[in-house]
Amino acid sequence: MGNRMQDRSVIVTGGSKGIGRGIAKVFAAEGAKVLLVARQPGDGEKTANEIADSGGDASFFRADVSDPQDVRDMAQAAVERHGGIDVLCSNAGIFPSANLEEMTVQEWDNVNSVNLKGAFLTLKACLPELKKSNQPRVLLTSSITGPITGYPGWSHYGATKAGQLGFMRTAAIELARHNITINAVMPGNIMTEGLDDIGEDYLRTMERAIPMGRLGDLEDIAYAMLFLASHEAKYITGQTLVIDGGQTLPESIDAMP
Ligand code: NAP
Repeated sequence: MGNRMQDRSVIVTGGSKGIGRGIAKVFAAEGAKVLLVARQPGDGEKTANEIADSGGDASFFRADVSDPQDVRDMAQAAVERHGGIDVLCSNAGIFPSANLEEMTVQEWDNVNSVNLKGAFLTLKACLPELKKSNQPRVLLTSSITGPITGYPGWSHYGATKAGQLGFMRTAAIELARHNITINAVMPGNIMTEGLDDIGEDYLRTMERAIPMGRLGDLEDIAYAMLFLASHEAKYITGQTLVIDGGQTLPESIDAMP
């Protein structure tokens, strides 16, 4: 256990599984008081218990980030349990696949509601408390998909992940006078439960496309988030950090080792 986040109140949306669970575990191991947020209590309570069993401070709060009242209640819960909000990790996201020709308006709207509107709603709900913190941080989980790359079936998803960065850049300017920084990580392919149904073919194809030869793990993202939440990162705002094992670098398949 370290103390880099000692007693800081951290909200991790999508903290019950995958990348969010990794962030929650690493931050809690550094002394943070973590509020894990997701829709399904089962996974969230399991993750909170795992963290408590290893000596960390974490509890679950059920909220849908696309629901304005839910996220206001989430912010209130962080205040009641931890006395305020220092770090918001806006990480909850969904990535259902649908090719453009078959995609329904409902499918487009659902992905937007969670990934993009959810980022706006959670930040807006947490802002009054972040303004009171002495080291306030907002961290977004964007993606390489959308801002840099494309993938068939994910036009709606890619639009939201690129949209998060546009949102971030203006938010960074507006929040700077409150000393609040906001930055985004852009993961490549990270091995999470969200990829469980995607199939072995996809995973093997991705491994061949990544110069480092493997998908990322949860700590690869969590430690980058930890840095961006740290005192040392106090002058970094409105920026992106690609974490993809070099996946976006090769100009062609011939450039691969
Ligand atoms: P995951 O394993 O499917 O976990 C997603 C988390 O978000 C779960 O805790 C889920 O819990 C929660 N969630 C989903 N919809 C929600 C909602 N409406 N309200 C509140 N919580 C919600 O996914 P992941 O792979 O860790 O992805 C996490 C983030 O990383 C996403 O933003 C994703 O776009 C981004 N990302 C992932 C990868 C990758 O390769 N895995 C790459 C680039 C970016 P409930 O279902 O219980 O709500």
